[in-house]
Amino acid sequence: MYDVVVVGAGIEGSATAYNLVKNGQKTLLLEQFPLPHSRGSSHGQSRITRVAYGKDDHYAVMMKEGGKLWRSLERESGTSIFLNCGCLAVGKPDFHFIKGTIASLSRHCIKHDILTPGDLRDRYPMLSLPPDYVGVFDYSGGVLRADKALRAFQTLFVKYGGELRDGEEVTGILPGSEVTIVTSQGEYRARKVVLTLGPWAPKFLPKLGINLPLKTVLTLVLYWKEKNKGEFSADRFPTYKNVRENVEVYALPSLEYPGHVRVCYHDGPETDPDSRDMADTGRILSTMKSYVREHLPSLQHTPSIVEPCMYTNTPDLQFVLDRHPSHRNIILGVGFSGHGFKLAPVVGKILCELAMDKTPSYDLTPCRVDRFFNTKARM
Ligand SMILES: Cc1cc2nc3c(=O)[nH]c(=O)nc-3n(C[C@H](O)[C@H](O)[C@H](O)COP(=O)(O)OP(=O)(O)OC[C@H]3O[C@@H](n4cnc5c(N)ncnc54)[C@H](O)[C@@H]3O)c2cc1C
Repeated sequence: MYDVVVVGAGIEGSATAYNLVKNGQKTLLLEQFPLPHSRGSSHGQSRITRVAYGKDDHYAVMMKEGGKLWRSLERESGTSIFLNCGCLAVGKPDFHFIKGTIASLSRHCIKHDILTPGDLRDRYPMLSLPPDYVGVFDYSGGVLRADKALRAFQTLFVKYGGELRDGEEVTGILPGSEVTIVTSQGEYRARKVVLTLGPWAPKFLPKLGINLPLKTVLTLVLYWKEKNKGEFSADRFPTYKNVRENVEVYALPSLEYPGHVRVCYHDGPETDPDSRDMADTGRILSTMKSYVREHLPSLQHTPSIVEPCMYTNTPDLQFVLDRHPSHRNIILGVGFSGHGFKLAPVVGKILCELAMDKTPSYDLTPCRVDRFFNTKARM
């Protein structure tokens, strides 16, 4: 009998399991694939982090604690996870993303620079942007070393007495005051279950009577080779975001593959995670080739490395952090909509609080299940 079984050892489940064991809970973390694996959403070596969150101020509030928690994970694990190279947002000055970013940074007293088109050209000669573009440089932003972060949570979880079983798929869950978890290898019982299933959530949750409007999307991590070696190193090029009417592009400095720069399209075709590599990615590639040719001319115009990854999007792109509407000891942490990595230490804390029947540290109204339905009664 476990206090809590966490299903899914991506970054959200691993952060949750780590918090649970640190809070004295006898915890089992189950993962369907042998670890580490690259089939879900948390693999790869880097993610962008920043505090500014435009209109979604609740995430900016969480990120103020998130930054501290990443630093504390670094200390506890003896691992370097956060590279504080800043985050540059570019766009037209009247576009909501730029206005929202400036408002969010000001509201939370985060040090930032507002860059005129001339400043942008001087500071970042490798960019070729429309003449009316301005920039916002957020000093709190940077790169999270994703694989190291994931490993740190899992290693500490086991070190503190947690049980991690990989290569073991959960095939069924029988609700009750004590929950039975049926796997490919046996059965477990627990007082609470936390489901952090990533892109497998829409396939699994209907077994528990919930149909959330989740869309699983294939996205490509694309790397482009520098023409001038070192031009995009982290001391010259920060993390980068360009949100426009129909296209959102982000980039990171050259880190994990020296001489290759990660520039990606923040979307993709709807795809089943079990047939991910059969999806048509022609539109992502053609959009990104045009973008790189136009705005990052000192990169080669054909990607040098392509790595697939999955998003699990909700219609409003807000997370789901809530209890199952009918089975209150089953907790859901899904729908991280392509922006959940940076918040994982806070998500782990919140899901742990829900599993331990504590009052959550944050107002979770935007992340509730019942927002998808007309009345709570329907759930
Ligand atoms: C290319 C890319 C770039 C991104 N960039 C950023 C960024 O810059 N900043 C940011 O904050 N976020 C970013 N994100 C989003 C972030 O990475 C995700 O929100 C986060 O990784 C989601 O983690 P997860 O634990 O929910 O899902 P996953 O990592 O997919 O974990 C779910 C796990 O559950 C397991 N599982 C599922 N079903 C079962 C079952 N039945 N039994 C046992 N195990 C099961 C799966 O195998 C998987 O390991 C990015 C995502 C991608 C794909």
